[in-house]
Amino acid sequence: MTHILVVEDEPSLCQLLVNNLTFEGFSVDSAGDGLPALAEHAAHRADLIVLDLMLPQMDGFEVLRILRERKDEVPVLMLTARGQETDRLQGLSLGADDYLVKPFSVLELIARVKAILRRTRPLDRPPVLRSGPFRFDLPRLEARRADKTLDLTPREFRLLEILITHPGRTHSRKELLQLAWEPDARPAARTVDVHIANLRRKLGEEVHGQPWITTVGGEGYRWVAPVEAETV
Ligand code: CA
Repeated sequence: MTHILVVEDEPSLCQLLVNNLTFEGFSVDSAGDGLPALAEHAAHRADLIVLDLMLPQMDGFEVLRILRERKDEVPVLMLTARGQETDRLQGLSLGADDYLVKPFSVLELIARVKAILRRTRPLDRPPVLRSGPFRFDLPRLEARRADKTLDLTPREFRLLEILITHPGRTHSRKELLQLAWEPDARPAARTVDVHIANLRRKLGEEVHGQPWITTVGGEGYRWVAPVEAETV
């Protein structure tokens, strides 16, 4: 379940947001100041933080600065009462994903929250995915084309998993090396190409003669076909 942390010191607004986000199906926690918010996030990691700018002790800018300093990329939707251009710019430059100026409608806030989540988490890594003739059972590390199980190495499966859980997104060789190899391994970028070549061979041809994994310029690789979660 997607978990949202609401940081807002005005109790009535805070409760309104918590109620509405809960109604939308999110699990929601709240905090009334910066420090408790950071503690709450550390104890129960949020998938998104709705962060009011003006807080009693530690303001939203400070919370955001600390998060980003810790390399925490949790998406942040900032709330500002002032609506001044400088606040908005400062928030965005500190790494906020979006902002809303008070007063705002709750519907608008929910729409923004969903838009940020769609952008930052294209697929919620459901266990079984389908794309074209393929079926990928992620927990079981099993890939099938039609009725045939593909004989993939764990590394090939991992590369495939990265690509199919972010369809349409290009991953550079460097990124794939970071995501699919152990941190202390130092394979050459060419290693990625070799694994992708093997993977393509095992996946087989697409109907129009295009590989399922396309090469994007000199940049990297991308899974182009639409991917859907299998509904049980
Ligand atoms: Ca406030």
